[in-house]
Amino acid sequence: MPELQFLGATGTVTGSKYLLTTGNQKVLIDCGLYQGLPALKDKNWKPFPIQPNEIDAIFITHAHLDHTGYLPKLVQLGYRGPIYATSSTAELMNIVLLDSAHLQEEEASFHKQGNGCCPDAEPLYTVQDASEALHLIKQIRFGEKFERGNLTVEFLQAGHILGSAFIRITVKENGTEETILFTGDMGRYGSPILNDPTPVTESDYLLLESTYGDRSHSTISREDALLPPIQECLKRKGCLLMPAFTIGRTQEILYTIRVLLQQNKIPPIPVYIDSPMAIDVTHIYATHHDEHDLDLEKMEKEGNSPFQFPSLNYVRTVEASKALNEAKGPIIIISANGMATGGRIMHHLVHRLPDPNTILLFVGYQAEGTRGRQLLEGAKSVKIFHQDIPVKATIMQSDTFSAHGDFTEILRWLAGFTKPPGKVFLVHGEPDGREGLKRHILEKFPSWNIELPAEAATEDLTLTLRRSS
Ligand SMILES: [Zn+2]
Repeated sequence: MPELQFLGATGTVTGSKYLLTTGNQKVLIDCGLYQGLPALKDKNWKPFPIQPNEIDAIFITHAHLDHTGYLPKLVQLGYRGPIYATSSTAELMNIVLLDSAHLQEEEASFHKQGNGCCPDAEPLYTVQDASEALHLIKQIRFGEKFERGNLTVEFLQAGHILGSAFIRITVKENGTEETILFTGDMGRYGSPILNDPTPVTESDYLLLESTYGDRSHSTISREDALLPPIQECLKRKGCLLMPAFTIGRTQEILYTIRVLLQQNKIPPIPVYIDSPMAIDVTHIYATHHDEHDLDLEKMEKEGNSPFQFPSLNYVRTVEASKALNEAKGPIIIISANGMATGGRIMHHLVHRLPDPNTILLFVGYQAEGTRGRQLLEGAKSVKIFHQDIPVKATIMQSDTFSAHGDFTEILRWLAGFTKPPGKVFLVHGEPDGREGLKRHILEKFPSWNIELPAEAATEDLTLTLRRSS
């Protein structure tokens, strides 16, 4: 009988890993890194609960590190099987896994040399491990069913980031079959660039994310969220500085600026994307026309690409990035990383935070303990590169650009089910998110069977719904 074990993302939003064991094979769905607070990060160093070489295959929902970032470690520990992902996810993984490995190596060497605290510090994994993991990737097309032993697998567009998929696995065993759908992260309805989440009408089991299970996003449009800070920047002739996540967020902001330009709501203010990773990711976004929604298709047909317009500048070299310090406003600088914990954004913060004409706009979640959170909470100064930097800039925030569906969007998607799933497992959520989503689902669908699995819990997938094949 098939069995599912929850190896991560239970009661937290990182470390997604689910092990599906059937009579013939063991497969892993997602292989994410734990991120955030030290207690979570420490889990990446714990022994993996089974021998990695006992796993026959891995299926990846999307490229974010909390779903892929443990792959190089698993390869270091002996995994040599295939890693299945959509082609755009594969391209994005190429960027994020190598970057993650570089950061792991840098962190280890910092601890070794820096203050001499940990002379034996080793990276969690190396660039070599990441390269080996990347060689194991096999690309899968959206909507194409493929067989692997007793499993039939299909990837459906999830609308969360480019390449993101719901993975539907049908297990055939002893003359019966059962379907399990893994949502990975749930995208949004009506968001620019990507298609809406694919409707699903039934599944025996459903693993559903719950990041925003207790919240609904602001209903302000993306244009209305971005227009006031841009207008303020124009008025002050200052810099609108946006720390932004490189995958998805940066591209949505560009799209929104392009719409505002097209509607003549703003003049052609210079826009700088100052992050080599964001530039590479934007190129991948621009070339995957198969995943673009109708609005983007229309814009591009009219010659108005959001990824290429006269006032948009891509800043690749360090020299060009430094030269931005001299650029007079009004200008918009979008740089990484999104929580102001590292990357080129740090240099811009040093230079621009003491300037009262700067507007710092956060467009993503700022986790506890990050510099982004400190600034949002009104810090009068922040420490960057061992200096106290006074904060004279105006700090603003918008939650309109989230890439995760809120509970209303999740309920909208669930309403497409023509019969209730046998069981719904709520994963990838903090306790409030999971509890909140359970409550909202039961209000709308009182008879549904909802479970909040604990870490490392194992569930037998033998349903009352069993059908004869
Ligand atoms: Zn994600």
